[in-house]
Amino acid sequence: MNLRNSIIRQLADGRFHSGEELAETCGITRAAIWKHIKKIQDLLGMEIFSVRGKGYRLTHPLELLDRDKIFAAMSLESQGQLQRLDIHQTVESTNACLLNLKTDDRVSGHACIAEQQTAGRGRRGRQWISPFGNNIYFSLLWEFSMGPAQLSGLSLAAGLSVVRSLETVGVSEIGLKWPNDIYWRERKLAGVLLEVTGEADGPSSVVLGIGINTGMSAAQGESIDQPWVSLNEITGGNNVSRNRLTGLVLGNLLQTMADFECDGLQPLLDEWQRYDLYHNRPVTVHQGNNSINGLHRGIDTSGALLLELDGKIQPFHGGEVSLRSAK
Ligand code: ATP
Repeated sequence: MNLRNSIIRQLADGRFHSGEELAETCGITRAAIWKHIKKIQDLLGMEIFSVRGKGYRLTHPLELLDRDKIFAAMSLESQGQLQRLDIHQTVESTNACLLNLKTDDRVSGHACIAEQQTAGRGRRGRQWISPFGNNIYFSLLWEFSMGPAQLSGLSLAAGLSVVRSLETVGVSEIGLKWPNDIYWRERKLAGVLLEVTGEADGPSSVVLGIGINTGMSAAQGESIDQPWVSLNEITGGNNVSRNRLTGLVLGNLLQTMADFECDGLQPLLDEWQRYDLYHNRPVTVHQGNNSINGLHRGIDTSGALLLELDGKIQPFHGGEVSLRSAK
């Protein structure tokens, strides 16, 4: 473990640790500890108090990623489906980690999790804000026998896996915004990003990325240009275990991937609709520079949004469009 990680692990309990104590455990001087703390603040964006005579402490405790705790939240079946789990400190993006694997190193059921992303991705080049240790960022690689066109409903199914996991840890009032954003009271709590490559007739390789806000502070999320929320606010500080939630989402997703290969989106349509934030409401679909107003009439088995325009239903596919509530 490098020195930076060792300092973070000691501070994770949220209590004060004197420079002397940290210096002794790490085998370096107090001045060197101070330099490392500065770097942790600057490079990782971590919020650390420093009080003369008391030492250093995080603004709130962190539950760092822990393989055993993640596995403990997964059924034996899910553990069997998971072929590999990489846990990183800092990566550009967990999706990129899996997408950049050499073909020979690719195995269906490979997951990658990180404490921090420096270039977390949203759809169409947008950014996913990913501060260290506070949220969940992970990706899963899965190989499908069919072509990419048949996977258009998969990101909706993935959103549902996240919703089910959140409900298991006691979070209610969760909604889905087509195609795959997860909201709590109209504030964005989690997102899904699907990146697919493959032959028209199959096979396809999917990298599915999930970001869930668990403890992001207002300062860390300051640059987000839409209403957002973090689990610690929803639960009033009653912390949901990050590792447990990661294990639950991973387990649900692995099952969803396996089921989708056989059944597609059809069996999930009713459940998806129950969480649909905008069903039967007036919405605006943004497509490039165009905005189209209509009534949201649900989704079809391909995951397309069904929009009622002048009494006629028109399907819209996820790739290039964004849905918003009509103003
Ligand atoms: P849509 O998916 O409908 O096209 P979107 O704006 O929600 O629209 P995404 O690509 O799903 O786009 O997500 C990226 C957007 O999410 C960012 O542009 C930003 O507005 C917001 N965002 C970025 N990081 C976070 C975060 N950690 N939590 C909540 N929202 C975030």
